[in-house]
Amino acid sequence: MELQGVHSFLESSAAARPDKVALVHEGERVSYRLLNRAASRLAAFLVQRGVLPGDRVVILLSNGVKYVASYYGVLKGGAVAVPLNVETGQETLSRLLEELQPVGIILEQGGGFLLQQLPLAPPSVRFVLAADASFPVCEPRLVWGWDEALGGEELPAGTRAVSAESLASIIYTSGSTGQPKGVMLSHRNIVSNTRSIVEYLHLTESDIQMVVLPFFYVMGKSLLNTHIAVGGTVVINNNFAYTASVIRQMAEEGVTGFSGVPSTYAYLLHRSPLASFRDRLPSLRYCTQAGGHMPREIKERLLQVLPPHTRLFIMYGATEAAARLTYVEPERLPEKLASIGKAIPGVTVRVLNPQGEELAQGECGELVASGPNIMLGYWNDPEATARVLDRNGYHTGDLGYRDADGYLYVTGRKDHLLKVGGHRIDPQEVEEVLMSSGFLLEVVVLGLDDPLLGKKLVALAVPLGSDPSDRTLLSFCHARLPRHKVPGEVRLVAALPKYPSGKIDRASCLSLCS
Ligand code: ATP
Repeated sequence: MELQGVHSFLESSAAARPDKVALVHEGERVSYRLLNRAASRLAAFLVQRGVLPGDRVVILLSNGVKYVASYYGVLKGGAVAVPLNVETGQETLSRLLEELQPVGIILEQGGGFLLQQLPLAPPSVRFVLAADASFPVCEPRLVWGWDEALGGEELPAGTRAVSAESLASIIYTSGSTGQPKGVMLSHRNIVSNTRSIVEYLHLTESDIQMVVLPFFYVMGKSLLNTHIAVGGTVVINNNFAYTASVIRQMAEEGVTGFSGVPSTYAYLLHRSPLASFRDRLPSLRYCTQAGGHMPREIKERLLQVLPPHTRLFIMYGATEAAARLTYVEPERLPEKLASIGKAIPGVTVRVLNPQGEELAQGECGELVASGPNIMLGYWNDPEATARVLDRNGYHTGDLGYRDADGYLYVTGRKDHLLKVGGHRIDPQEVEEVLMSSGFLLEVVVLGLDDPLLGKKLVALAVPLGSDPSDRTLLSFCHARLPRHKVPGEVRLVAALPKYPSGKIDRASCLSLCS
Protein backbone atom coordinates (compact mmCIF):
# COMPACT_ATOMS: atom_id res chain seq x y z
CA MET A 1 0.00 0.00 0.00
CA GLU A 2 1.28 3.46 -0.87
CA LEU A 3 2.24 5.41 2.18
CA GLN A 4 0.47 8.68 2.78
CA GLY A 5 1.56 11.37 5.16
CA VAL A 6 0.88 11.37 8.89
CA HIS A 7 -1.87 13.98 8.33
CA SER A 8 -3.80 11.48 6.20
CA PHE A 9 -4.87 9.90 9.54
CA LEU A 10 -6.89 13.03 10.27
CA GLU A 11 -8.09 13.40 6.67
CA SER A 12 -9.39 9.83 6.41
CA SER A 13 -11.14 9.95 9.78
CA ALA A 14 -12.71 13.31 8.87
CA ALA A 15 -13.95 11.86 5.57
CA ALA A 16 -15.33 8.69 7.17
CA ARG A 17 -17.00 10.25 10.23
CA PRO A 18 -17.05 14.06 10.01
CA ASP A 19 -19.41 14.59 12.94
CA LYS A 20 -17.66 12.30 15.36
CA VAL A 21 -16.01 14.07 18.32
CA ALA A 22 -12.25 14.01 17.77
CA LEU A 23 -11.15 16.08 20.77
CA VAL A 24 -12.55 16.97 24.17
CA HIS A 25 -10.81 19.72 26.10
CA GLU A 26 -12.08 21.90 28.92
CA GLY A 27 -15.71 21.50 27.96
CA GLU A 28 -15.04 22.02 24.24
CA ARG A 29 -15.97 19.11 21.94
CA VAL A 30 -14.46 19.36 18.48
CA SER A 31 -15.64 17.24 15.55
CA TYR A 32 -13.33 15.69 12.97
CA ARG A 33 -14.79 18.04 10.35
CA LEU A 34 -13.86 21.15 12.34
CA LEU A 35 -10.46 19.86 13.33
CA ASN A 36 -9.58 18.95 9.76
CA ARG A 37 -10.86 22.31 8.51
CA ALA A 38 -8.67 24.20 11.00
CA ALA A 39 -5.64 22.12 9.97
CA SER A 40 -6.34 22.73 6.25
CA ARG A 41 -6.66 26.47 6.81
CA LEU A 42 -3.42 26.55 8.70
CA ALA A 43 -1.78 24.63 5.84
CA ALA A 44 -3.11 27.22 3.37
CA PHE A 45 -1.75 30.01 5.57
CA LEU A 46 1.69 28.35 5.50
CA VAL A 47 1.65 27.97 1.73
CA GLN A 48 0.67 31.64 1.37
CA ARG A 49 3.64 32.57 3.57
CA GLY A 50 5.89 30.73 1.13
CA VAL A 51 6.63 27.83 3.45
CA LEU A 52 8.29 25.04 1.50
CA PRO A 53 8.52 21.28 2.08
CA GLY A 54 11.19 20.60 4.68
CA ASP A 55 10.85 24.01 6.34
CA ARG A 56 10.58 23.81 10.13
CA VAL A 57 7.63 25.26 12.04
CA VAL A 58 8.00 25.35 15.81
CA ILE A 59 4.88 24.62 17.85
CA LEU A 60 5.11 26.08 21.35
CA LEU A 61 1.62 25.23 22.60
CA SER A 62 0.33 23.20 25.50
CA ASN A 63 -2.02 20.26 24.83
CA GLY A 64 -5.26 21.55 23.36
CA VAL A 65 -7.31 21.88 20.19
CA LYS A 66 -4.97 24.48 18.70
CA TYR A 67 -1.98 22.25 19.26
CA VAL A 68 -3.62 19.40 17.35
CA ALA A 69 -4.80 21.66 14.51
CA SER A 70 -1.29 23.12 14.27
CA TYR A 71 0.45 19.74 14.25
CA TYR A 72 -1.66 18.31 11.42
CA GLY A 73 -1.80 21.70 9.64
CA VAL A 74 1.98 21.95 9.48
CA LEU A 75 2.20 18.41 8.10
CA LYS A 76 -0.53 19.06 5.52
CA GLY A 77 1.44 22.10 4.41
CA GLY A 78 4.40 19.79 3.72
CA ALA A 79 6.47 21.39 6.48
CA VAL A 80 8.17 19.82 9.49
CA ALA A 81 6.39 20.00 12.86
CA VAL A 82 8.76 20.77 15.74
CA PRO A 83 6.80 20.70 18.99
CA LEU A 84 8.72 22.16 21.92
CA ASN A 85 7.96 22.23 25.61
CA VAL A 86 6.10 25.48 26.37
CA GLU A 87 8.18 25.80 29.50
CA THR A 88 11.52 25.71 27.72
CA GLY A 89 13.76 28.34 29.30
CA GLN A 90 14.83 31.34 27.28
CA GLU A 91 18.43 30.25 26.89
CA THR A 92 17.60 26.75 25.64
CA LEU A 93 14.89 28.13 23.39
CA SER A 94 17.31 30.56 21.74
CA ARG A 95 19.77 27.71 21.20
CA LEU A 96 17.11 25.44 19.72
CA LEU A 97 15.79 28.18 17.41
CA GLU A 98 19.33 28.86 16.27
CA GLU A 99 19.92 25.22 15.38
CA LEU A 100 16.47 24.69 13.86
CA GLN A 101 16.32 27.90 11.78
CA PRO A 102 12.53 27.66 11.65
CA VAL A 103 10.39 29.61 9.17
CA GLY A 104 7.59 30.05 11.66
CA ILE A 105 6.63 29.81 15.31
CA ILE A 106 3.17 29.08 16.66
CA LEU A 107 2.90 30.11 20.29
CA GLU A 108 0.63 31.06 23.15
CA GLN A 109 0.94 33.18 26.24
CA GLY A 110 3.79 31.13 27.75
CA GLY A 111 5.95 32.14 24.79
CA GLY A 112 5.26 35.83 25.43
CA PHE A 113 8.84 36.61 26.22
CA LEU A 114 9.76 35.24 22.84
CA LEU A 115 7.38 37.63 21.16
CA GLN A 116 9.00 40.56 22.92
CA GLN A 117 12.35 39.32 21.73
CA LEU A 118 11.41 38.82 18.12
CA PRO A 119 14.25 40.96 16.90
CA LEU A 120 16.52 38.31 18.43
CA ALA A 121 14.81 35.39 16.70
CA PRO A 122 16.79 33.94 13.80
CA PRO A 123 16.21 35.81 10.52
CA SER A 124 14.77 32.58 9.12
CA VAL A 125 11.53 33.29 11.04
CA ARG A 126 9.01 34.66 8.55
CA PHE A 127 5.88 34.51 10.69
CA VAL A 128 4.73 34.11 14.25
CA LEU A 129 1.24 32.83 14.83
CA ALA A 130 -0.14 33.92 18.20
CA ALA A 131 -2.67 31.28 19.17
CA ASP A 132 -3.73 33.20 22.23
CA ALA A 133 -6.42 35.85 21.81
CA SER A 134 -4.89 38.00 24.56
CA PHE A 135 -1.73 38.36 22.51
CA PRO A 136 -0.88 41.79 21.15
CA VAL A 137 -0.73 41.26 17.41
CA CYS A 138 1.95 43.66 16.30
CA GLU A 139 3.96 44.02 13.13
CA PRO A 140 1.09 42.39 11.19
CA ARG A 141 3.24 41.01 8.42
CA LEU A 142 5.18 39.03 11.00
CA VAL A 143 2.81 38.37 13.88
CA TRP A 144 -0.61 36.97 13.05
CA GLY A 145 -3.59 36.23 15.26
CA TRP A 146 -5.07 32.73 15.14
CA ASP A 147 -8.49 33.80 13.81
CA GLU A 148 -6.95 36.06 11.21
CA ALA A 149 -4.62 33.34 9.96
CA LEU A 150 -7.31 30.67 9.96
CA GLY A 151 -10.07 32.80 8.48
CA GLY A 152 -9.19 32.07 4.89
CA GLU A 153 -9.29 29.26 2.38
CA GLU A 154 -8.55 25.63 3.11
CA LEU A 155 -5.66 23.89 1.41
CA PRO A 156 -7.22 21.05 -0.60
CA ALA A 157 -6.05 17.63 0.61
CA GLY A 158 -3.06 16.27 -1.29
CA THR A 159 -1.89 19.71 -2.52
CA ARG A 160 1.48 19.13 -0.93
CA ALA A 161 2.51 15.57 -1.71
CA VAL A 162 4.93 14.15 0.85
CA SER A 163 7.20 11.20 0.25
CA ALA A 164 7.47 8.41 2.79
CA GLU A 165 11.05 9.33 3.58
CA SER A 166 10.46 13.04 3.93
CA LEU A 167 10.95 14.61 7.32
CA ALA A 168 7.66 14.98 9.22
CA SER A 169 8.69 15.99 12.70
CA ILE A 170 11.66 16.73 14.93
CA ILE A 171 11.07 15.67 18.52
CA TYR A 172 13.47 16.56 21.29
CA THR A 173 14.44 13.92 23.87
CA SER A 174 14.37 14.97 27.49
CA GLY A 175 18.14 15.05 27.70
CA SER A 176 18.47 12.57 30.55
CA THR A 177 21.83 11.47 29.12
CA GLY A 178 23.16 14.85 28.03
CA GLN A 179 21.75 17.69 25.93
CA PRO A 180 18.29 17.13 24.44
CA LYS A 181 18.69 15.69 20.94
CA GLY A 182 16.41 16.57 18.02
CA VAL A 183 15.17 13.24 16.70
CA MET A 184 14.24 13.42 12.99
CA LEU A 185 11.20 11.27 12.22
CA SER A 186 9.97 10.71 8.68
CA HIS A 187 6.36 10.19 7.64
CA ARG A 188 7.16 6.48 7.27
CA ASN A 189 8.62 6.31 10.80
CA ILE A 190 5.49 7.72 12.38
CA VAL A 191 2.91 6.10 10.12
CA SER A 192 4.40 2.60 10.47
CA ASN A 193 4.69 2.88 14.25
CA THR A 194 1.17 4.23 14.56
CA ARG A 195 -0.19 1.31 12.52
CA SER A 196 1.66 -1.28 14.64
CA ILE A 197 0.34 0.21 17.87
CA VAL A 198 -3.21 0.32 16.52
CA GLU A 199 -2.81 -3.36 15.61
CA TYR A 200 -1.60 -4.71 18.95
CA LEU A 201 -3.86 -2.53 21.09
CA HIS A 202 -6.80 -3.42 18.80
CA LEU A 203 -7.84 0.24 18.71
CA THR A 204 -11.12 1.12 17.01
CA GLU A 205 -13.28 4.18 16.49
CA SER A 206 -15.07 3.37 19.76
CA ASP A 207 -11.93 4.08 21.73
CA ILE A 208 -11.77 7.17 23.91
CA GLN A 209 -8.27 7.93 25.17
CA MET A 210 -7.52 10.15 28.14
CA VAL A 211 -4.24 12.03 27.51
CA VAL A 212 -2.37 13.53 30.46
CA LEU A 213 1.08 13.40 28.82
CA PRO A 214 2.33 16.35 26.77
CA PHE A 215 2.00 16.03 22.98
CA PHE A 216 5.56 17.39 22.52
CA TYR A 217 6.80 14.19 24.17
CA VAL A 218 6.96 11.20 21.82
CA MET A 219 4.50 9.12 23.83
CA GLY A 220 1.91 11.92 23.85
CA LYS A 221 2.35 12.31 20.09
CA SER A 222 1.83 8.61 19.63
CA LEU A 223 -1.38 8.61 21.70
CA LEU A 224 -2.70 11.39 19.49
CA ASN A 225 -1.83 9.77 16.16
CA THR A 226 -3.09 6.30 17.06
CA HIS A 227 -6.49 7.51 18.23
CA ILE A 228 -6.97 10.01 15.40
CA ALA A 229 -5.98 7.25 12.94
CA VAL A 230 -8.86 5.02 14.04
CA GLY A 231 -11.36 7.86 14.33
CA GLY A 232 -11.53 7.62 18.11
CA THR A 233 -11.80 10.44 20.62
CA VAL A 234 -8.95 12.07 22.56
CA VAL A 235 -9.83 13.60 25.92
CA ILE A 236 -7.18 16.12 26.92
CA ASN A 237 -6.63 16.76 30.63
CA ASN A 238 -3.75 19.06 31.55
CA ASN A 239 -4.36 18.87 35.30
CA PHE A 240 -2.90 15.54 36.24
CA ALA A 241 -1.92 16.97 39.65
CA TYR A 242 -5.63 16.61 40.54
CA THR A 243 -5.59 12.87 40.11
CA ALA A 244 -9.04 12.31 41.60
CA SER A 245 -10.61 14.70 39.11
CA VAL A 246 -8.76 12.97 36.26
CA ILE A 247 -10.33 9.65 37.25
CA ARG A 248 -13.70 11.35 37.67
CA GLN A 249 -13.47 12.71 34.13
CA MET A 250 -12.50 9.27 32.85
CA ALA A 251 -15.71 7.91 34.37
CA GLU A 252 -17.86 10.76 33.00
CA GLU A 253 -16.45 10.52 29.46
CA GLY A 254 -16.58 6.71 29.38
CA VAL A 255 -12.84 6.63 28.67
CA THR A 256 -11.61 3.30 27.26
CA GLY A 257 -7.86 3.93 27.43
CA PHE A 258 -5.39 5.58 29.78
CA SER A 259 -1.60 5.90 29.43
CA GLY A 260 1.24 7.01 31.61
CA VAL A 261 4.90 6.84 32.51
CA PRO A 262 5.87 5.07 35.78
CA SER A 263 5.35 8.14 37.96
CA THR A 264 1.86 8.68 36.49
CA TYR A 265 0.81 5.32 37.91
CA ALA A 266 2.69 5.75 41.19
CA TYR A 267 0.75 8.97 41.80
CA LEU A 268 -2.60 7.54 40.65
CA LEU A 269 -2.24 4.67 43.10
CA HIS A 270 -1.11 6.84 45.94
CA ARG A 271 -3.03 10.10 45.64
CA SER A 272 -6.39 8.74 44.60
CA PRO A 273 -6.38 5.01 45.16
CA LEU A 274 -7.68 3.56 41.92
CA ALA A 275 -9.32 0.76 43.89
CA SER A 276 -11.97 3.15 45.16
CA PHE A 277 -12.84 4.14 41.57
CA ARG A 278 -12.68 0.82 39.82
CA ASP A 279 -16.43 0.26 39.86
CA ARG A 280 -16.88 3.62 38.16
CA LEU A 281 -14.69 2.67 35.19
CA PRO A 282 -16.73 0.00 33.39
CA SER A 283 -15.48 1.19 29.97
CA LEU A 284 -11.75 1.23 30.76
CA ARG A 285 -10.52 -1.41 28.29
CA TYR A 286 -6.74 -0.82 28.46
CA CYS A 287 -4.02 1.01 30.33
CA THR A 288 -0.59 1.42 28.80
CA GLN A 289 2.73 2.25 30.44
CA ALA A 290 6.02 3.24 28.81
CA GLY A 291 8.70 5.88 29.24
CA GLY A 292 10.87 4.08 31.76
CA HIS A 293 11.21 1.08 34.00
CA MET A 294 8.18 0.73 36.27
CA PRO A 295 9.05 -1.08 39.52
CA ARG A 296 7.51 -4.51 39.99
CA GLU A 297 5.76 -3.35 43.16
CA ILE A 298 3.72 -0.78 41.20
CA LYS A 299 2.84 -3.26 38.46
CA GLU A 300 1.58 -5.72 41.07
CA ARG A 301 -0.52 -3.10 42.82
CA LEU A 302 -1.94 -1.91 39.52
CA LEU A 303 -2.94 -5.44 38.58
CA GLN A 304 -4.76 -5.73 41.90
CA VAL A 305 -6.68 -2.48 41.70
CA LEU A 306 -7.50 -2.03 38.02
CA PRO A 307 -11.01 -3.11 37.05
CA PRO A 308 -10.88 -6.83 36.15
CA HIS A 309 -11.77 -6.14 32.49
CA THR A 310 -8.91 -3.61 32.04
CA ARG A 311 -5.88 -4.95 30.15
CA LEU A 312 -2.53 -3.54 31.28
CA PHE A 313 0.10 -3.19 28.51
CA ILE A 314 3.70 -2.67 29.62
CA MET A 315 5.63 -1.21 26.70
CA TYR A 316 9.13 -0.07 25.88
CA GLY A 317 10.36 2.45 23.36
CA ALA A 318 12.36 5.57 22.65
CA THR A 319 11.94 8.83 20.79
CA GLU A 320 14.42 7.45 18.22
CA ALA A 321 11.92 4.65 17.47
CA ALA A 322 9.02 7.06 16.82
CA ALA A 323 7.73 5.79 20.16
CA ARG A 324 7.34 2.05 20.41
CA LEU A 325 9.64 -0.97 20.20
CA THR A 326 8.17 -3.75 22.37
CA TYR A 327 5.14 -4.67 24.48
CA VAL A 328 4.01 -7.46 26.79
CA GLU A 329 0.67 -9.09 25.98
CA PRO A 330 -1.47 -8.52 29.09
CA GLU A 331 -2.24 -12.26 29.33
CA ARG A 332 1.46 -13.03 29.89
CA LEU A 333 2.13 -10.10 32.21
CA PRO A 334 1.70 -11.88 35.57
CA GLU A 335 4.38 -14.45 34.68
CA LYS A 336 6.61 -11.91 32.83
CA LEU A 337 6.28 -9.04 35.26
CA ALA A 338 9.86 -7.82 34.89
CA SER A 339 9.88 -8.08 31.10
CA ILE A 340 9.42 -5.45 28.38
CA GLY A 341 7.93 -8.19 26.16
CA LYS A 342 8.59 -8.79 22.49
CA ALA A 343 9.02 -6.53 19.47
CA ILE A 344 5.88 -4.91 18.08
CA PRO A 345 4.72 -5.92 14.56
CA GLY A 346 7.24 -4.98 11.86
CA VAL A 347 10.12 -4.30 14.28
CA THR A 348 13.11 -6.40 15.34
CA VAL A 349 14.93 -6.02 18.65
CA ARG A 350 18.13 -8.00 19.17
CA VAL A 351 20.62 -8.30 22.03
CA LEU A 352 24.11 -7.62 20.67
CA ASN A 353 27.61 -7.59 22.09
CA PRO A 354 29.94 -4.63 21.37
CA GLN A 355 31.19 -6.44 18.24
CA GLY A 356 27.65 -6.47 16.85
CA GLU A 357 27.14 -10.22 17.33
CA GLU A 358 23.83 -11.56 18.57
CA LEU A 359 23.99 -12.99 22.08
CA ALA A 360 22.48 -16.22 23.29
CA GLN A 361 19.46 -16.36 25.56
CA GLY A 362 20.25 -15.13 29.08
CA GLU A 363 23.38 -13.23 28.00
CA CYS A 364 23.41 -9.52 28.67
CA GLY A 365 24.18 -7.00 25.94
CA GLU A 366 22.80 -3.87 24.28
CA LEU A 367 19.30 -3.81 22.80
CA VAL A 368 19.54 -2.88 19.12
CA ALA A 369 16.39 -2.22 17.12
CA SER A 370 15.59 -2.12 13.43
CA GLY A 371 12.44 -1.47 11.46
CA PRO A 372 10.57 1.21 9.52
CA ASN A 373 10.10 3.24 12.71
CA ILE A 374 13.79 3.94 13.34
CA MET A 375 14.62 7.65 13.03
CA LEU A 376 16.46 9.28 10.14
CA GLY A 377 19.03 10.67 12.60
CA TYR A 378 19.60 13.59 14.96
CA TRP A 379 19.01 17.09 13.60
CA ASN A 380 22.25 18.84 12.79
CA ASP A 381 24.36 16.24 14.56
CA PRO A 382 25.87 13.63 12.22
CA GLU A 383 28.43 12.54 14.84
CA ALA A 384 25.77 11.72 17.43
CA THR A 385 23.76 9.98 14.70
CA ALA A 386 26.74 7.85 13.69
CA ARG A 387 27.23 6.80 17.32
CA VAL A 388 23.78 5.20 17.55
CA LEU A 389 22.79 4.20 13.99
CA ASP A 390 24.65 1.57 11.97
CA ARG A 391 23.85 -1.35 9.70
CA ASN A 392 22.45 -3.27 12.69
CA GLY A 393 19.95 -0.55 13.47
CA TYR A 394 19.45 1.79 16.40
CA HIS A 395 21.67 1.18 19.42
CA THR A 396 19.31 2.03 22.27
CA GLY A 397 21.95 2.37 24.99
CA ASP A 398 19.80 0.02 27.07
CA LEU A 399 21.29 -3.14 28.50
CA GLY A 400 19.30 -6.31 28.73
CA TYR A 401 18.77 -9.94 27.75
CA ARG A 402 16.26 -12.35 26.28
CA ASP A 403 14.76 -15.30 28.22
CA ALA A 404 14.04 -18.83 27.02
CA ASP A 405 10.58 -17.78 25.76
CA GLY A 406 12.02 -14.90 23.74
CA TYR A 407 10.91 -12.20 26.19
CA LEU A 408 13.20 -9.20 26.54
CA TYR A 409 14.35 -7.53 29.76
CA VAL A 410 15.99 -4.14 30.30
CA THR A 411 18.39 -4.31 33.21
CA GLY A 412 19.46 -0.68 32.99
CA ARG A 413 20.87 2.04 30.83
CA LYS A 414 24.51 2.06 29.75
CA ASP A 415 24.88 5.74 30.67
CA HIS A 416 23.43 5.21 34.14
CA LEU A 417 25.88 2.46 35.17
CA LEU A 418 27.93 3.46 38.21
CA LYS A 419 31.43 2.33 39.01
CA VAL A 420 31.70 1.85 42.77
CA GLY A 421 35.09 0.54 43.86
CA GLY A 422 35.81 -2.21 41.36
CA HIS A 423 32.11 -2.97 40.75
CA ARG A 424 29.77 -1.84 38.00
CA ILE A 425 26.36 -1.21 39.51
CA ASP A 426 23.10 -0.71 37.76
CA PRO A 427 21.02 1.74 39.84
CA GLN A 428 17.80 0.20 38.50
CA GLU A 429 18.46 -3.01 40.45
CA VAL A 430 18.92 -1.12 43.72
CA GLU A 431 15.87 1.07 43.05
CA GLU A 432 13.77 -2.04 42.41
CA VAL A 433 14.78 -3.50 45.80
CA LEU A 434 14.04 -0.25 47.65
CA MET A 435 10.60 0.02 46.00
CA SER A 436 9.76 -3.55 47.01
CA SER A 437 9.92 -2.42 50.66
CA GLY A 438 6.41 -1.02 50.13
CA PHE A 439 7.36 2.16 52.02
CA LEU A 440 8.10 4.33 49.00
CA LEU A 441 6.28 6.26 46.34
CA GLU A 442 9.41 6.76 44.22
CA VAL A 443 13.14 6.39 44.50
CA VAL A 444 16.25 7.18 42.52
CA VAL A 445 19.73 5.81 43.16
CA LEU A 446 22.63 8.07 42.22
CA GLY A 447 26.41 8.03 42.33
CA LEU A 448 28.12 10.84 44.22
CA ASP A 449 31.81 11.47 43.69
CA ASP A 450 33.94 9.70 46.24
CA PRO A 451 37.72 10.00 46.52
CA LEU A 452 38.15 6.35 47.52
CA LEU A 453 35.49 4.46 45.60
CA GLY A 454 35.07 6.70 42.56
CA LYS A 455 31.36 6.86 43.27
CA LYS A 456 29.28 6.14 46.33
CA LEU A 457 25.62 5.21 46.16
CA VAL A 458 22.98 7.53 47.56
CA ALA A 459 19.25 6.92 47.33
CA LEU A 460 16.74 9.78 47.22
CA ALA A 461 13.43 8.35 48.35
CA VAL A 462 9.90 9.76 48.53
CA PRO A 463 8.03 7.98 51.35
CA LEU A 464 4.47 6.80 50.78
CA GLY A 465 2.87 7.67 54.07
CA SER A 466 4.43 7.48 57.51
CA ASP A 467 8.16 7.96 57.03
CA PRO A 468 10.22 4.78 57.23
CA SER A 469 13.56 5.41 58.94
CA ASP A 470 16.59 5.36 56.67
CA ARG A 471 17.89 2.50 58.83
CA THR A 472 14.80 0.42 58.05
CA LEU A 473 15.37 0.95 54.34
CA LEU A 474 19.06 0.22 54.56
CA SER A 475 18.57 -3.01 56.50
CA PHE A 476 15.95 -3.98 53.91
CA CYS A 477 18.66 -3.54 51.25
CA HIS A 478 21.27 -5.42 53.32
CA ALA A 479 18.95 -8.43 53.49
CA ARG A 480 18.52 -8.52 49.71
CA LEU A 481 21.63 -7.11 48.03
CA PRO A 482 25.35 -7.81 48.16
CA ARG A 483 27.12 -5.31 50.39
CA HIS A 484 28.62 -3.24 47.55
CA LYS A 485 25.16 -2.55 46.10
CA VAL A 486 23.70 -1.20 49.33
CA PRO A 487 23.55 2.62 49.24
CA GLY A 488 25.76 4.40 51.75
CA GLU A 489 22.84 6.67 52.54
CA VAL A 490 19.10 6.99 51.98
CA ARG A 491 17.75 10.54 52.03
CA LEU A 492 14.02 11.05 52.38
CA VAL A 493 12.67 13.87 50.21
CA ALA A 494 9.19 15.25 49.51
CA ALA A 495 9.39 14.90 45.72
CA LEU A 496 11.83 14.06 42.93
CA PRO A 497 12.54 16.55 40.12
CA LYS A 498 10.85 15.45 36.88
CA TYR A 499 10.86 16.29 33.19
CA PRO A 500 7.50 17.49 31.83
CA SER A 501 6.95 13.95 30.53
CA GLY A 502 6.93 12.77 34.15
CA LYS A 503 10.28 10.97 33.83
CA ILE A 504 12.69 11.42 36.74
CA ASP A 505 15.33 14.07 36.04
CA ARG A 506 18.47 12.37 37.37
CA ALA A 507 20.74 15.35 36.71
CA SER A 508 18.58 17.63 38.86
CA CYS A 509 18.33 14.90 41.53
CA LEU A 510 22.11 14.83 41.57
CA SER A 511 22.33 18.58 42.12
CA LEU A 512 19.85 18.18 45.00
CA CYS A 513 22.41 15.93 46.67
CA SER A 514 25.36 18.24 46.41
P1 ATP B 1 17.65 11.20 26.40
O1 ATP B 1 17.71 10.22 25.26
O2 ATP B 1 17.98 12.60 25.98
O3 ATP B 1 18.43 10.75 27.56
P2 ATP B 1 15.08 10.23 27.31
O4 ATP B 1 15.70 9.10 28.01
O5 ATP B 1 13.99 10.87 28.06
O6 ATP B 1 16.12 11.34 26.87
P3 ATP B 1 13.29 8.85 25.66
O7 ATP B 1 13.34 8.56 24.21
O8 ATP B 1 12.06 9.50 26.17
O9 ATP B 1 14.53 9.73 25.92
O10 ATP B 1 13.52 7.57 26.54
C1 ATP B 1 13.82 6.31 26.02
C2 ATP B 1 14.42 5.47 27.10
O11 ATP B 1 13.46 5.25 28.16
C3 ATP B 1 14.77 4.09 26.65
O12 ATP B 1 15.99 4.06 25.95
C4 ATP B 1 14.83 3.35 27.98
O13 ATP B 1 16.03 3.61 28.66
C5 ATP B 1 13.71 3.99 28.77
N1 ATP B 1 12.48 3.16 28.73
C6 ATP B 1 11.37 3.38 28.03
N2 ATP B 1 10.44 2.43 28.29
C7 ATP B 1 10.97 1.58 29.19
C8 ATP B 1 10.52 0.40 29.87
N3 ATP B 1 9.30 -0.09 29.71
N4 ATP B 1 11.39 -0.21 30.72
C9 ATP B 1 12.63 0.28 30.91
N5 ATP B 1 13.10 1.39 30.32
C10 ATP B 1 12.30 2.04 29.47
